Amino acid sequence: MNETEWLTCPDPARLLAARWDLGEFASERKLRLFGVACIRSMWDRMRSAQMNDSSEQLATCQTAIEICQRLSDAAVGQRELAVAREHVHTTLHCFPDDSQPAHAVLAVRLALDTCSVGRIAREAARAAGDGPYWAESVAMEQVRQAALFRDVFGNPFDPPNIDRTNSGATDIVTLAQCAYARWRELPDGHLDLAPAFSLADALQDSGWCEYDSNVVRHLRSPGPHVPGCWVIDLLLDME
Ligand SMILES: [Zn+2]
Repeated sequence: MNETEWLTCPDPARLLAARWDLGEFASERKLRLFGVACIRSMWDRMRSAQMNDSSEQLATCQTAIEICQRLSDAAVGQRELAVAREHVHTTLHCFPDDSQPAHAVLAVRLALDTCSVGRIAREAARAAGDGPYWAESVAMEQVRQAALFRDVFGNPFDPPNIDRTNSGATDIVTLAQCAYARWRELPDGHLDLAPAFSLADALQDSGWCEYDSNVVRHLRSPGPHVPGCWVIDLLLDME
């Protein structure tokens, strides 16, 4: 895979395979965050079509998704995890096999059990499949997932262009910490663009980045920016 193919690839499974082929390291945390981003991407659309907003099943899955995200920071106790697994396992049997909700709940269950993101992404894409244009809607979801993958893992053909030796580190790290913390309060898990733009300005003012640095360009792009975004992680020294 070359850089053009990387930037336009519509399939997260191919991007994942390409990273391995390039010898790029992927931490369990990053893989988990990408899996959660895939689930969040399809969740609201699938929920509105297939689940009653007040249902017990819905509440169970939303709690489980939040736990999956906290798993990336190892901030989940064994008891809490076991209860969530049991509830999601029970919920899975509430829906017909191969239905949209069944694929969605299976994606959540996989995310609780493993960081096998290929399987999580595949089930999340199937959950987004709808009606007579099932294959097309699954393919559209995979395109969204590929964009999420590039946000989390960056571009292996274009390493970060940043110089940390200049002053202003405290402001930048504080802004990046605020952005990361704010994500956890947002229901769709997507970063508002305003904090990303502020961070881009601060990076330029500090001298860490030129105006055309790939780091600044990423922050000024329309996103998506999700927890695990390669720029925020870079600034916070997180892998
Ligand atoms: Zn981003």
